[in-house]
Amino acid sequence: MRILIVEDEHKIANALKRALEQESYAVDVSYDGDDGYAMATTEPYDMAIIDRMLPGEHNGIDIVKAMREAKIHTPVLLLTALGSTSDKTKGLDSGADDYLVKPFALEELLARVRALVRRPTEVHGTTLQVGDLSLNTVDFSVKRADTDIQLTSKEFGLLEYLLRNQGRPISKDTIIAHVWDYDADILPNTVEVYVKYLRNKIDAPFKKPLLHTVRGFGYKLQA
Ligand code: CA
Repeated sequence: MRILIVEDEHKIANALKRALEQESYAVDVSYDGDDGYAMATTEPYDMAIIDRMLPGEHNGIDIVKAMREAKIHTPVLLLTALGSTSDKTKGLDSGADDYLVKPFALEELLARVRALVRRPTEVHGTTLQVGDLSLNTVDFSVKRADTDIQLTSKEFGLLEYLLRNQGRPISKDTIIAHVWDYDADILPNTVEVYVKYLRNKIDAPFKKPLLHTVRGFGYKLQA
């Protein structure tokens, strides 16, 4: 899952990026309103964390409004230093899904992110499942049947994305866009390499394959 952070306070932006990357998200950071505006309206994100007050011509509210006008329904968490009720209403009226007042505890932010990323799909609690394979998005454990499976951060990110889109063929380009950040120079055959790593762990030791190749296109996770 790929997340956009638009926040001009470098310290906060970088701390958020690190924390989210530890949870296996791909993260892009923009430090001003105009750059953030361009990224939010052109790149495919699964969630965006946007500060309200930003340098440049576009503030956080402008960015959310522009996203919604462009029919981009990416969940947005707005950050702000202001805490009044009218401010909160204005933020949510712009089309943001949630609102967090600074200073906040990192754990609180991570919990909100999990809730927002989870929103579009039917998920039972914090576990994503296909067949006898399950992935827990809070403690990062992966299990098939009764076997614990250890994945690297990228393998986990890839599996989580496929699980959230299970039953649908997903192209390699779509996988790149949602599992790797903007700075990562990824080619389709890098995806093939990671799929191979993942298959060795989730499919090879078991009878029934779950991760299927869709020839000339990409992959599909299905029981
Ligand atoms: Ca700011």
